[in-house]
Amino acid sequence: MINEMLERMRNRSTSCSKSADAPESSKDSDVCPICHGSEWILTEKDGVETAKPCKCRERAIMSRRLRFADIPEAFRGMDLKTFRVDAYRQPDSKKKVADACRIVKAYLSDFEHQKEQGMGLFIWSRAKGSGKTRIAAGIANELIKSYAVKFAVSLTILQEIKNTWRRDAEYSENQLLDALCTTDILVIDDFGVERPADWISDKLYQIINERYINKRVTIFTSNESLETLQYDDRITNRIKERTYQIAFPEESVRDHIAEQHQEDMLQKLLNG
Ligand SMILES: [Zn+2]
Repeated sequence: MINEMLERMRNRSTSCSKSADAPESSKDSDVCPICHGSEWILTEKDGVETAKPCKCRERAIMSRRLRFADIPEAFRGMDLKTFRVDAYRQPDSKKKVADACRIVKAYLSDFEHQKEQGMGLFIWSRAKGSGKTRIAAGIANELIKSYAVKFAVSLTILQEIKNTWRRDAEYSENQLLDALCTTDILVIDDFGVERPADWISDKLYQIINERYINKRVTIFTSNESLETLQYDDRITNRIKERTYQIAFPEESVRDHIAEQHQEDMLQKLLNG
């Protein structure tokens, strides 16, 4: 069932515009078929040439603004198929991660419907290196085949907001917030490590509330549960209403994966 859905997502057009009258772009190309990537359409009338912005331009500007929120290079190739459930050693962890994977699969196979409802995920565990970011990246890599997906560490989002306050800033704070609020899917990694200063709560609330109102999907990873998160209720209530909470194992697999990798390498070396 999940494979069917992913196949469907893969086959969907990746053209720059979602409107039905736009011609389909070739599957392997992100270049706009209307303007061929120039973002402008030239027309001639009475010998006067004018340029009007292509439909794809707005989206292109938005994605340039938000380049910091692209899926990080290190996570790009990570898909859900290569998520190693066997890396967890404690029995309780094995059970938790199996449950988590089941929810993620069901969620993705019903994604179009979930998206209509604006339902996202809140993936949490206290342990660092438990695989939360890894699975969030896997989800993002699946969804990016069909939707505009942004992925950013929450501290980076706040830093980028601060950067807009500088006099030589490339874009305004409003433009940045607007871009964060309008992307189809926003993954906020490591949510809740920020000092809960007033301005931070205000900005995060602005983003989360705007996405809430417009039923846009937000996926969080956090070292805190929604109950222990240091934000005021207006933020946690919004998240509670619009996410499935997924408890991840309280076990770090970062070291196990590194060990396994070493063992594999050593085996190859000895057998080679
Ligand atoms: Zn275009």
